[in-house]
Amino acid sequence: MRRGKKGNNVNDIFGMTKEELQESLAPYRVPGYRAGQIAEWMYQKGAKTFDSMTNLPRGLRDALAQDLLIGRPEIRDRLDSRDGKTTKFLLEYRDGTAVETVLMRQPYGNSICVSTQAGCSMGCIFCASTLHGRARDLSQGEILAQAVTIQDMLKEETPGGKVDTVVLMGSGEPLMNYDAVVGFLHLVHEPYTLGLGYRNITLSTSGIVPNIYRLADEGIPVSLSVSLHAPEQELRSKIMPINRRYPLADVVRAAGAYADKTGRRVTYEYILIDHLNDGAKQAEELVHLLKGQLASVNLIPINPVPERSLMRPSKSRIDWFEQFLLRHHLTVTVRREMGTDIQAACGQLRNKHLRENK
Ligand code: SF4
Repeated sequence: MRRGKKGNNVNDIFGMTKEELQESLAPYRVPGYRAGQIAEWMYQKGAKTFDSMTNLPRGLRDALAQDLLIGRPEIRDRLDSRDGKTTKFLLEYRDGTAVETVLMRQPYGNSICVSTQAGCSMGCIFCASTLHGRARDLSQGEILAQAVTIQDMLKEETPGGKVDTVVLMGSGEPLMNYDAVVGFLHLVHEPYTLGLGYRNITLSTSGIVPNIYRLADEGIPVSLSVSLHAPEQELRSKIMPINRRYPLADVVRAAGAYADKTGRRVTYEYILIDHLNDGAKQAEELVHLLKGQLASVNLIPINPVPERSLMRPSKSRIDWFEQFLLRHHLTVTVRREMGTDIQAACGQLRNKHLRENK
C-alpha cells in the first residue's frame, strides 16, 4: 500500500485540505468549486461514498469511485457510562489499526478526546496506552476522522448536534507526531470541516521541549496542557521516563515561553497517586515550581492501576492537596469523575481489543 507524505494512502482523500483536493481533481477537469462540494460532503454531511454526493454529476461520481477512496474508520466498540455523559469509542482504520476516542457531554458542550498515535512509546507508569508500545503514528486525516465520526453521530442524535471542544489527550504523544498533529489543527479549524476555534482546542504533552517552542511559533494559539505529575526531577523521571530526556525545569521553561508567546494560560495536569506524589513535600515543591506563572493546575485522582500498586488517594488527601495549592494562590481544579465505570483512562479499551485479536 503506497502512502502519501502525510501518512494516508495516496488515493485516500479523507484528510485533504480543499487545496489538496483541488489538485487531486485536476485530472478530471472539473470546476474548482467541486473540491468545496466534496469537502463538505466528507467533513460535514457524513458521506462515506462518492455515490452519496448527489450534487456531483453521475459520471464524475463513478470516475472518482474508481480511482479514489474516502478512508473513514469503523466504530468497532462503544461503551457508555452509567450517567450517559461519557462514551468511549474504539475506531478501526482500514489497515486494522484501532484507537480510542472519548466523547464527554459537559455542561458547556460536547468535548472529545482524540488519539494522535496508536499506542504510545512514552512509558508513563500510570497509563494503559503505553503497555504495548507505539504501533504507528496517525495521519492528519485519521485524527480528523475521529472528530468527524463523532460529530456525525451527534448530528444523528440531535439536529444541530456538534463537537464543541477537542482535546488531544487520547493515546499517543501529539508532539512526537508533530506534522500530522499541526496539519490536523489547521484542518479542524477550517470552516469546511468542524470550524473549531483554536481556543476550543487543547493539546496535551508529556513535555517534548523543542516541539513546544516550535508550536508556539506556528501562529495557532491552541491551549497547552503539560503532564507534570511530579514537582521534582527524580520523582517525575520515575513516573514519566521522558523526563530523563527533557528535564522538568526545561519543560516548565518551555511552557512559560508558550504562555508568553500565545497569551494562553498553560494547564499543568497532575495525576494524584496515593502516597507517591500527593504528600506535603510535593505540594510545597509544586507551589515553588509554579508560583508567578500564567498557569493552572488540574488535579486528577488516578484511575487505580492495581497491577502497578498505583492507588487513588483518599478524599481527605485529595482535598488537603487542593486546599494547600489554593492557600498558596495557585489556580486549581480537581477533575470531575467522568466515566470511571467505563474505564475512561486512555488505552484500556484498545488493549482489550488487542488481547481479543491475538
Ligand atoms: S500519558 Fe500520554 S504520553 Fe504518557 S504514555 Fe500515556 S499516552 Fe503516552
